[in-house]
Amino acid sequence: MAEKELTLSIIKPDGVERNIIGRIISRFEKAGLTIRALRLTRLTREEAEAFYAVHRERPFFDSLATYMTSGPIVVSVLEGYNAIQKNRELMGATNPEKADEGTIRKDFAKNVEINTVHGSDAPETAAKEIAFFFPETELIKGNR
Ligand code: ATP
Ligand code: MG
Repeated sequence: MAEKELTLSIIKPDGVERNIIGRIISRFEKAGLTIRALRLTRLTREEAEAFYAVHRERPFFDSLATYMTSGPIVVSVLEGYNAIQKNRELMGATNPEKADEGTIRKDFAKNVEINTVHGSDAPETAAKEIAFFFPETELIKGNR
C-alpha cells in the first residue's frame, strides 16, 4: 500500500474571521485526513511575502500579502493517503466561481483572492511549507 503523505493546510483570515474553523476541519476529518500539527497564528508582512514568494511577480502579490496578514490564520499538517490531492479536491478551484459543488471554496470563498483555504500543491512544496511553520518536533505521530 502507498505511504501516507503529509500536506500543509491554511485556513486563511476570512475563514477564521467568519468562525468556520471547525466546519472546515470537520471536512478534512470526514475525508479521512488526520491532524499531525495545528496552530492559530498571524503572519507578519515578511512571512506572508516569503510564504508566497513564487507569486512575487504577479499583479496580485501585494494585495495577497495584505489579505494574508489581515487577521489570524490556522495552520495545520494533514496526513493521509494521497493527502495533497485529497486536500486540493476538498478545497476546490482557486476561483470559487469555478469550484465544484460541495467544495470548501464553492461554499465559503468570497472571490479568487479571498478564498478561505490554502493547500500544498506537490510533495516538494508540502515539505517546504510544513517546515516553514512547524519544526520536526511539533509533528505529532498518531496511532492510526
Ligand atoms: P493556494 O496556493 O493558496 O493554495 P492555489 O494554489 O489554488 O491557492 P495559487 O495560484 O497558488 O492558487 O495562488 C495563491 C493565492 O493567491 C490564491 O489562493 C489566492 O488567494 C491568490 N490569487 C491567485 N490568483 C489570483 C488572482 N487572479 N487575483 C487575486 N488573487 C489571486
Ligand atoms: Mg498555490
